[in-house]
Amino acid sequence: MSGGTERLYLDHNASAPLRPQALARMVEVLGVAGNPSSVHGEGRKLRGIVEDARETLAAMCGVKARSVIFTSGATEANVLALSPRWQGNDGPVYLDRLLMSAVEHPSVRAGGRFAAREISHIGVDEHGILRLDHLDELLAAGGPALVSVMAANNETGVIQPLAEIGARVKAAGGVFHVDGVQFGGRLPVDIAGWQADAVSLSAHKMGGPQGIGSLVLRTSALSPAPLLAGGGQEQHRRAGTENAAAIAAFGAVARDGSIMLEEFASLARLQGLLEDGLRLISGSTVVFGADAPRLANTTCFAVPGVPSEMALMALDLNGIALSSGSACSSGKVGASHVLTAMGVDEDLGRCALRVSLGWTTQEVDIARFLDVWARVAATLNPSVTGKAA
Ligand code: PMP
Repeated sequence: MSGGTERLYLDHNASAPLRPQALARMVEVLGVAGNPSSVHGEGRKLRGIVEDARETLAAMCGVKARSVIFTSGATEANVLALSPRWQGNDGPVYLDRLLMSAVEHPSVRAGGRFAAREISHIGVDEHGILRLDHLDELLAAGGPALVSVMAANNETGVIQPLAEIGARVKAAGGVFHVDGVQFGGRLPVDIAGWQADAVSLSAHKMGGPQGIGSLVLRTSALSPAPLLAGGGQEQHRRAGTENAAAIAAFGAVARDGSIMLEEFASLARLQGLLEDGLRLISGSTVVFGADAPRLANTTCFAVPGVPSEMALMALDLNGIALSSGSACSSGKVGASHVLTAMGVDEDLGRCALRVSLGWTTQEVDIARFLDVWARVAATLNPSVTGKAA
């Protein structure tokens, strides 16, 4: 062990530490007795708390409060959205197939309520950007489609051209779902500009609690068939007693939306320091998606000959927490499907590490990480000189 060194958490894309205002609000609401569906005073108080959070989240996304469906997290929001049947104003809308990018999160890759034979993957280029020509080809090749593309990739941070994608999906008469989990609270969620019909969000990626998310609809006039039937909660779109304390904490985070955006923008400077430092330590450092629009907090990189599993263990022993590829698939050895889709060589993919910064990160943290990384990389691959800036 590192002799009592303080831990350094650089894994915000896996889960951001809980923000103080979220913790305070959650504890406060946990102490309120009742069920938001009850008509008595206790119930009405909780109903007010839930609806207040709904309005805050809706305002953050530029939609009406009725458009917000609270779920148990973004995994559920994604599965809810991936439905072959949606309810429109003029009756049901049936979708024959599901088109998704080749770099989606496992909760989208699983296909929701579509059969495996109804699913096609849209390729990405070497930067991790969706190939619009391939999307056009697939859209032209069959009946009405649900298209699901993430706003920003959890492993590389690469941002997709959502407005261009949305325009194509709409021109083809499809329904457009965006997994906005790594984007929400970091950059403005522009449901109208993207022409997205639904966007999935997760509270714990922005400093809210785990186990609460939302499917935010552009309009409540078009919504997916419910996944959970039972009580009439969430306007019959998601049964089950609302997790009022977690919803309230989600609202407490969303309320500071503009502060979060500013705070996130300031991470770009730290990302620059980090990536310059990495390249100085080893000239053969590869930053995946470096030439694409990318989240200011995410750096997925590799140094050939420094296997990520060993590097992760060595960093952890030095008090530093980060991730190799996607945290959701940790334990799996080999290149991630994201890097494979970008055409990354498998050996290099096995060396991929992800640093993800967030609201707790300071400039001194970058210096400490680089210092430890220089030693770890030089130990695992002696051709790395091991000199930090
Ligand atoms: N989509 C993306 C892009 C994610 O990064 C994650 C979390 N790893 C999810 C969906 C799932 O979110 P949740 O943990 O709220 O189920």
